[in-house]
Amino acid sequence: MRYSDMEFENYDSVLRCIIRDLDNPTRSDIAKHLGLSKSAVSNIVSRLIDYGLVLDGESIQSGQKGRPGTSLSVNPSEWLVLGAAIVSSAWQFVICDLSGTLKDTYVHEIPELSPGCALACLSEGIAHVLGSHPDHLLPGVGIAVPGIIDIASGDIVVAYDFGWNERVRIGDYIEKATGMKAYVCNRHAAEGIAEYRYANEDGEQSMVYIGISSGIRATIFSSGLLVSGSHGRAGRISHLQIDPNGRLCTCGQRGCLYTLANDEALVRYYQEEAGSTVSPGMISERAAGIIKAADEGDDASRRAVERLGDVMTTAVRMLSVMLDTRKVILGGPIGDSEALVSHMNDNLSSIHGVDIFPSVSRCRIKQHGSALGAVSLVVDDAFALVRDDFFSRF
Ligand SMILES: [Zn+2]
Repeated sequence: MRYSDMEFENYDSVLRCIIRDLDNPTRSDIAKHLGLSKSAVSNIVSRLIDYGLVLDGESIQSGQKGRPGTSLSVNPSEWLVLGAAIVSSAWQFVICDLSGTLKDTYVHEIPELSPGCALACLSEGIAHVLGSHPDHLLPGVGIAVPGIIDIASGDIVVAYDFGWNERVRIGDYIEKATGMKAYVCNRHAAEGIAEYRYANEDGEQSMVYIGISSGIRATIFSSGLLVSGSHGRAGRISHLQIDPNGRLCTCGQRGCLYTLANDEALVRYYQEEAGSTVSPGMISERAAGIIKAADEGDDASRRAVERLGDVMTTAVRMLSVMLDTRKVILGGPIGDSEALVSHMNDNLSSIHGVDIFPSVSRCRIKQHGSALGAVSLVVDDAFALVRDDFFSRF
């Protein structure tokens, strides 16, 4: 069946209201929000219900005359959504329902962390998931990766912390190899989106998430909107210059946040504080050991974490002055540290000025955060992914 752009826009907008923009809305709430007639919204909702995307819920008394409205939500039992993220040296896959509830997971190891091997393993992993979940999987995959992402093309422009110094055409590769539409985003940005969408229990609309691992990045929400910037790169705080006389950064500047607050910097602080070297192994594992020891009260580990906390306090003050944010969440895995968060809160509460600094807290999603955030990008585009099949039925 042919359908007009306007018709598609209306269905897409109504579904987005139910998925994301409004909280369990009635048909009247949606009509008012979109400026559509209630009968138009009712028709659209009926078809979305028939197609298994939406559920009719409880009756809500509006206080006005007429029949009470019913609250609408996504249907969690019909459609599944796939997300993937690079975690350590593996692809972590999650299969969720439309509300972001985890239904299944799968891990596919990446034997060699080169772009070619990572892409081949991602494609194999997707094929495995498609084989085990053949029914009702939306034909899109959210992919959370390190580095700077070109949102329009789905390319990784560069991922310095993985040593990927050339463009990796991951979106294009996956679309050709699997037939799934690819939604590529930075892994920390994805974690921030997951925290905002699925763990933001107080509904705070102005929030900054900062993910710290081998890299560092912020995800910024202001008045309920994800701040993307003109190239989709807003939140790339790694090259905020904290110390003009500091270490040389990969970008050519000195003393960038990236050189002062990541897993490598934490290991360096520990070595200086303890006057010794840490046990050999991957930097990420060594840093995780320092975080754990600091939270358990080891002195040198705590001092190392506090030095990282001093740097992060400066970064949060800068962000907070620019954005007037009310909530800062740290994750990452380096950011998910009680010693770090409490030191930063001590620092922030001791500063008295005209600016009101937010308190910092640890992330709530401890596992699968990046893949879950990637899933939400697919969910947001759910109607576009099914439109041809949908309009062929109605
Ligand atoms: Zn830099």
